Amino acid sequence: GDRAAVMPGKDCVKVAVRVRPFNKREKDAGSRCVISVVSNIITIQDPRSVQVPRSFCFDYAYWSHSGFTRDCSGLYVPEEPGGRYADQDSVFQDLGKGILENALQGYNATLLAYGQTGSGKSYSMVGYGPNKGLVPTLCDRLFQAIRANQDSRQCQVFFSMLEIYNEQVVDLLSRGSRAPGGLRVREEQQRSFYVEGLRRVPCDSAPQVEQLMEQGTRARTTAATHMNANSSRSHMLIILQLKQIFSKESITKQSNINLVDLAGSERQRASGSEADRLKEGTAINLSLTTLGHVISALADVAAGKKVVHIPYRDSVLTKLLQSALGGNSRTVMIAALSPADICYEESMSTLRYADRAK
Ligand code: ADP
Repeated sequence: GDRAAVMPGKDCVKVAVRVRPFNKREKDAGSRCVISVVSNIITIQDPRSVQVPRSFCFDYAYWSHSGFTRDCSGLYVPEEPGGRYADQDSVFQDLGKGILENALQGYNATLLAYGQTGSGKSYSMVGYGPNKGLVPTLCDRLFQAIRANQDSRQCQVFFSMLEIYNEQVVDLLSRGSRAPGGLRVREEQQRSFYVEGLRRVPCDSAPQVEQLMEQGTRARTTAATHMNANSSRSHMLIILQLKQIFSKESITKQSNINLVDLAGSERQRASGSEADRLKEGTAINLSLTTLGHVISALADVAAGKKVVHIPYRDSVLTKLLQSALGGNSRTVMIAALSPADICYEESMSTLRYADRAK
């Protein structure tokens, strides 16, 4: 069972925390900054308490840009010496590059964005306009690397994009697939689950991938409207499959890069049919909870602790990620935070979740 899957891997989960700038709503509310960033340590102060602030240490911690200028009221000014401003490019250098290198060597990788809705998950993962996020930049570099290496190997890239909502899988690239109950998740061999009938589109350029991402994102929004739901409650998973054929050595290497924009981490209330499911004892976001357990078990493995069981099989998301979490795979989590006092509770819970992953 899962026991065989537990392999000691060094630094198997890397965690980064990124604090976005204040948004208009927070500024209008006269919010204060409750976060400080010094080196790779994030400190958070409960705005309603004089208790000592809590500090958490991560692999990386950054303000997301240098736009934290002092406003006249002086309320939102975290101009800490030592804190690091990271633009999209430096985030890619820290988090995306290693994933790409790992994949080119034939290993799987998973990149996860966690945080409450509006905290900057999509900004980091996908980006907006010219501020390209991790996924498009990674694709750019992937196709660059493929071109640079075309003498030694022949490469194929396949792109898939799906959504997990209420433990059901929806193919975001295939209109006909909105079957009741979603697509089936099947086990191929031990430790390897796949989605039956999921569309895999062969790609040979970054613009082509970007176009598919746009198509998938539109489908995600439409699907949410259909189900009378909010897309922030679903997980979006992009699978980039890389196949490399080294004909001289007659070796084929295959690796999956999983890019996951997780559902908003804010406490999710049950409504309608979900309330019925809750009565049956199912957590509203089973995938999010289970992912937390899996990642924290993997962190224990990495720390040399004895781990008997990793609960991959408990949710759809962790099943699909199983072969790309732990072992030789590289896992990176980026936790997105608002700096504002009005988000304190959610930010604290994001930091706790991220903290368990190290
Ligand atoms: P989420 O995906 O977590 O719901 P978004 O990524 O959509 O949140 O971010 C919400 C808003 O905040 C967007 O308008 C986005 O442009 C802005 N934002 C988020 N992160 C940053 C950042 N690091 N720098 C600048 N703006 C950001």
